[in-house]
Amino acid sequence: MAITAIKGFNDILPNESGRWQHIEQAARRVFELNGFSEIRVPIMEKTELFCRSIGDATDIVEKEMYTFIDKGDNSITLRPEGTAGVMRAFIEHKLHAQDPVSKLYYLGPMFRYERPQKGRYRQFHQIGAEVTGVNDPLVDAQVLNMLCAFFREIGLDEPSLQINSLGCPECRPAYRAALLKFLEGRLDQLCEDCRRRFTTNPLRTLDCKAAGCAEATQGAPSMLDNLCGGCGQHFDSVRCYLDSIKTPYKINPRMVRGLDYYTRTTFELVTGLLGSQSAVAAGGRYDGLISQLGGPSIPGIGFAIGVERVALLLGQQDFSRRPDLFIATMGAAERAGAFVLLTELQNLGVRVEMDYEGKSLKSQMRRADKLKTRYSVVLGGNELESGRALFKRMEDGLQIESVLTADAINEIVCPD
Ligand code: ATP
Ligand code: MG
Repeated sequence: MAITAIKGFNDILPNESGRWQHIEQAARRVFELNGFSEIRVPIMEKTELFCRSIGDATDIVEKEMYTFIDKGDNSITLRPEGTAGVMRAFIEHKLHAQDPVSKLYYLGPMFRYERPQKGRYRQFHQIGAEVTGVNDPLVDAQVLNMLCAFFREIGLDEPSLQINSLGCPECRPAYRAALLKFLEGRLDQLCEDCRRRFTTNPLRTLDCKAAGCAEATQGAPSMLDNLCGGCGQHFDSVRCYLDSIKTPYKINPRMVRGLDYYTRTTFELVTGLLGSQSAVAAGGRYDGLISQLGGPSIPGIGFAIGVERVALLLGQQDFSRRPDLFIATMGAAERAGAFVLLTELQNLGVRVEMDYEGKSLKSQMRRADKLKTRYSVVLGGNELESGRALFKRMEDGLQIESVLTADAINEIVCPD
């Protein structure tokens, strides 16, 4: 029996990779326009890094990590998200010493042991961006607008921006205590997960999908009503800056992110088109993370986009690149001549396809159709002898005669 891929791990096939490149190129364009540089970090880190940053009582660390012991008896984890590794590298290489403001982006696979379903896989891909060194809410607005600009760039305007504030170590403990008190009397309504993490992570109950939890949290105190002066002002300023650049958003006071390191501004881009996998991108501020990881006390903010979900939203649009020209040939001598032309045309940047093994003219033309080539030409004895041939524009059948030199052909098939 043939060997299959691991459950929840996907192949991205040639007919899909054009869509992926479209997404990745748009991200690079938009992020670089905003002054971000790419950083590439390993896909595995010491397990401890994720426990210390994401938090022991989160779904990711409790249930979802791919952790194993390597041959040297070290506990290693396949990264479940990108921020921890990027911040580890940031601290290790003292990037803050080079520029007090650091703007980084990354893309690549992440790994979480979850139940695979549409939009949720065990290997999935994120494109993320991080800014460190700036406390000012202006940067929150810039990051949020950059995320929205990315979605506009790829031609999606459906996902909508939701924002919230999770406060800071000064105001969150009191809010947490108030929420615990509120929920105490309703403990029996909560789902098993929420009961289990009731004392370690009660905020999760607010965005739990279980009906009992939704009911139990009706009328629960809101973080937004309990922000300290600094956090309240920060949140108001983020809103003002977003308004000033006309970036639309909705406030969602129930949004709780599944990672412990978030402070103040948190956000999600949500869609109604992917069932319960509604978040296509998410992020927030993490002012305590860098020092928590042993680095200097430097604030940060970032987000991650789920590439599979974006690809699903883009649907079946065809982003594959079509050949400019298909050269069909009638015999071995013509095939040898076509090969020389193909090479010369490629040197000029023309994408050319040809037959390799003497198929019938009919099957060559079938392949040209399938490849959706823009032009085709048939080379037989006459064409080789006269050095001229008819080039056919496939969309309307228009025929153009040309000499068989790369420059002349280039003029016809790629006029600009
Ligand atoms: P969800 O609530 O859907 O589990 P999350 O809060 O765990 O999402 P984050 O850790 O914030 O997700 O990751 C950012 C983005 O990465 C998500 O908005 C989503 O688009 C994508 N993502 C997260 N987990 C998966 C997965 N298992 N498969 C595919 N995409 C994922
Ligand atoms: Mg999750």
